[in-house]
Amino acid sequence: MLPASIREELRAIVGAKNCLDKQEALVAYSYDATPMQQALPDVVVMPKSTTEIQQVMRVAARHHIPIVTRGAGSNLCGGTIPVGGGIVLVLSQMNQIVEIDEQNLTITVQPGVRTVDIHQAVEAIGLFYPPDPGSMVISTIGGNIALNSGGLRGLKYGTTKDYVLGLEAVLPNGEVIRTGGKLMKDVAGYDLTKLLVGSEGTLAIITEAILKLIPKPQTQRVMLAMFADMAQAARSVSDIIANRIIPGTLEFLDQGTIRVVEDFKQIGLPTDVAAILLIGQDGEPQTVDRDMEQIAAICKKNAAVQIKVATTVEEADEVMTARRSALAALSRMRPTTILEDATVPRAAIAPMVAAIQEITERYGLQICTFGHAGDGNLHPTCMTDARNTEEIERVEHAFEEIFAAAIDLGGTITGEHGVGIVKAPYLEWKVGAAGMEIMKGIKHAFDPHNLLNPDKMFAKQSRNRVVVQRA
Ligand SMILES: Cc1cc2nc3c(=O)[nH]c(=O)nc-3n(C[C@H](O)[C@H](O)[C@H](O)COP(=O)(O)OP(=O)(O)OC[C@H]3O[C@@H](n4cnc5c(N)ncnc54)[C@H](O)[C@@H]3O)c2cc1C
Repeated sequence: MLPASIREELRAIVGAKNCLDKQEALVAYSYDATPMQQALPDVVVMPKSTTEIQQVMRVAARHHIPIVTRGAGSNLCGGTIPVGGGIVLVLSQMNQIVEIDEQNLTITVQPGVRTVDIHQAVEAIGLFYPPDPGSMVISTIGGNIALNSGGLRGLKYGTTKDYVLGLEAVLPNGEVIRTGGKLMKDVAGYDLTKLLVGSEGTLAIITEAILKLIPKPQTQRVMLAMFADMAQAARSVSDIIANRIIPGTLEFLDQGTIRVVEDFKQIGLPTDVAAILLIGQDGEPQTVDRDMEQIAAICKKNAAVQIKVATTVEEADEVMTARRSALAALSRMRPTTILEDATVPRAAIAPMVAAIQEITERYGLQICTFGHAGDGNLHPTCMTDARNTEEIERVEHAFEEIFAAAIDLGGTITGEHGVGIVKAPYLEWKVGAAGMEIMKGIKHAFDPHNLLNPDKMFAKQSRNRVVVQRA
């Protein structure tokens, strides 16, 4: 519990109704979307401006109080758990679209704007902001930037990092920096914009962002290709790209996920196939038609048992919504759902899925896999029960082996969900000891007193590598 005098200082900055310390508020901000992670903050502070954030930061610096910045709390890496107590700084009130600049094709936003509100605002005037995490109806742009979020359109359009042109951010000493701008070119010094993207609230608090917009694609079409064999689906993914076609969306669902999504949404997915590819293309109508024909031909060549093209916008929306609801559908199965994020080069999808299946069977678990096949970004998702400690131990070992398998295939421990608490023990596997030292040096340069999101990214102890045994 913070002394009353410090809570009084914070109240004086943001107002009593924006400074919460009742037990029910502390509990509400003690967890995020990550299962099995919880810690109580000392106080929840909801600023309305950059100036208020600066003042709060100065109080925190003076009294050495940790600050955990929070958008919607939809992250899956424990990124907003206040492990060491302190202040949870909730930015949901800073939710204004500051400007849409049609000359420069940019949008300037406060950090608490929901991703979907950006989509709707720019699409209404024929512009497009592509990053579309599955959580876009709740996630904030501040959270998207801090985690460099991806989404279903990542293959063709890239991820959040490709659209952030400039940032305003408050440093741990309360100073404000501005990086980049409405500029397509800017090589003045180190690229602090890119450094802050994906920094998980550990370096600075993002208070405003300038994002790049592009023209809205004229048309969009979606198809489903069903396969009796996982390898055929994986080969289709490689063949589509090898044929120089970059689909707007190239998603994958394994049989377990298909069954659960169909049970949840009932849109007529065949539940007896081994895998479904959800393939979308957007652009000029003739190009989209040509690409869709070629993609269908490639899938047929790879023995697709059925190809279904959405004929109406409603049908296409239904299919995309079903894919976005995969996590929600799987969450209905058992009390605890752990969604992971192992990512491999596209060509390694088939061996990665085989490794996940083998590990799942060996540990006697229920793991379904879906994800962004075009990006090699798979979400093996374990349905389990946090109360069963013996099973949770098996789950941990299984995921450790899944991360190791991803790295052995040239991949990574996380493609888009971030390190936070849950991946911190594995970070060194990916970046090596020297990489860890450089990252710690960057953290120290920004935040010498370790005030911003402490205990994230850098684990007290790295895990030892497990030896992966494949069948
Ligand atoms: C159903 C579901 C589907 C999802 N689908 C995807 C997906 O397709 N792709 C994907 O990448 N992720 C996905 N996610 C994960 C998550 O939604 C994203 O990471 C999202 O960007 C988090 O946004 P948020 O506003 O909830 O951030 P929060 O969870 O509140 O915060 C995330 C991190 O950012 C930091 N942070 C937040 N705001 C700021 C700021 N202004 N300045 C500095 N640091 C800040 C926090 O400290 C924390 O470390 C999904 C999650 C769910 C529950």
